[in-house]
Amino acid sequence: MSISLTERAGQFAQRTAIIASEGSFNYQALLDASAKVASFLLQGATDLSQRPVAFLAPPGWHYVALQWGIWRSGGIATPLSLFHPKPELEYVIEDTHPAVVVAHPDLVDPLKSIAYERGIRFGITTEALAYHSDKLPVISPNRRAMILYTSGTTGKPKGVVTTHENIAAQITSLVQAWGWTADDHILNVLPLHHIHGIVNVIACALWVGAKCEICPKFDAGEVWNRICQGDLTVFMAVPTVYAKLIDAWENASPKDRSKMSEGCHKMRLMVSGSAALPVSTLERWKEISGHVLLERYGMTEIGMAISNSLHGERFPGCVGAPLPGVQIALTDETGGMVEPRTPGEIVVRGPNVFLEYWGKPNETQKTFRDGWFLTGDVAVEENGIYRILGRSSVDIIKTGGYKVSALEIEETLLTHPDIKEVAVVGVPDEIWGERVCAAVVMRPGARLDPDSLRTWGKERLATYKVPKDSIALEELPRNAMGKVSKPELKKIIESKKG
Ligand code: AMP
Repeated sequence: MSISLTERAGQFAQRTAIIASEGSFNYQALLDASAKVASFLLQGATDLSQRPVAFLAPPGWHYVALQWGIWRSGGIATPLSLFHPKPELEYVIEDTHPAVVVAHPDLVDPLKSIAYERGIRFGITTEALAYHSDKLPVISPNRRAMILYTSGTTGKPKGVVTTHENIAAQITSLVQAWGWTADDHILNVLPLHHIHGIVNVIACALWVGAKCEICPKFDAGEVWNRICQGDLTVFMAVPTVYAKLIDAWENASPKDRSKMSEGCHKMRLMVSGSAALPVSTLERWKEISGHVLLERYGMTEIGMAISNSLHGERFPGCVGAPLPGVQIALTDETGGMVEPRTPGEIVVRGPNVFLEYWGKPNETQKTFRDGWFLTGDVAVEENGIYRILGRSSVDIIKTGGYKVSALEIEETLLTHPDIKEVAVVGVPDEIWGERVCAAVVMRPGARLDPDSLRTWGKERLATYKVPKDSIALEELPRNAMGKVSKPELKKIIESKKG
């Protein structure tokens, strides 16, 4: 795949590319703006030569112009999360050592000081967009293009590095499978530090010359207003978003409900992924919208891998069959293929699979066996259709479409002066997929106050990582080796809450 997203844009020059709070912009405007950003980053140099550029902008025009500008300068686009408090931003900046940190004017603090304290150049998106265009480097497809941070079992997030070729493979597989065309008009409601919004929504739309409309943040009422206008063709979200849209529909008047449902009828495709879609949500959404949600399975490291079909039967509770160009196998602990209808770990091979974890060659090596990427997810296959059974590790919690590491949360909670021991688990939840819950053993004389612990947690962790429930125990359930038994802990928490 030699041709890139930015190289294709010229053929759609006068078509609308982005509709956002900043206005409406065609593909030529995106090429012009990204050339200015690239020149601003280069400052006369010929090529950023695969150095990361960390950036923070709300979902919208600045974000996309910046991302494309980084690619065109030869840099590696490293989007930061709007949800991350200072310590998490610092972690990513320290881990990547970017050539430049760029922020939207509304998001200068605390990034500017984080960059300056480390001697890193800092820029503002408005300066970059007002710069002049210089000559830009030619970027070969096998170069690093993006680093997305994702939580793993070892606590701190890892930077997943994909090349231009990987991203192109991830996009073209979806364009083919889901029938994207230049006539499509998608509404993005997803955060843009995660693969779902970045690749499945924005990059796919821009690959084919379609319209990509970007909400600065998710708001159920706003989304319904847009759907009611009847001009959207495609919508993609995580199960939690569909649950919130269902709530808003149920609270609307009968007259509004029928307008909302009619807007959905005008779309050609509605997709769910990034976490298991409860069958109850799928069924309720079908009653409301007339759509059987197309559920798919993917991961930051591999893009999308398995999907229900666009035109054929969709299987509730299942994720369908491997996507074009993606090889899938289910294996046992020794790497042997499992028999049909037997659970096995999903392993993946293909041009969609990432290059490496940034700066972690050992971790990268550990996640591959004979060229296959080991996902850590367990699935079962019958007649070519896959059903996800969950992660082999209980320490990864999926909440509201985010993947969070229990170990990382535990590490932070243990810095609280009143907490002696802690264990974090995910408990099944209708809305969030899983709820983050903590069990703590307090220091002598201290008492747990769940509300103030939440407030304390929000100053140190992204809100979605902060335990929604916490309980105090005399002691944590441990096995003979002294390790906390998390399945047992989940039962204790569920019995106390239920
Ligand atoms: P992320 O890298 O944040 O996109 O998270 C990827 C993980 O989300 C996968 O390894 C799975 O555990 C989970 N996941 C993604 N899609 C699905 C799905 N349709 N059903 C169940 N789990 C999913």
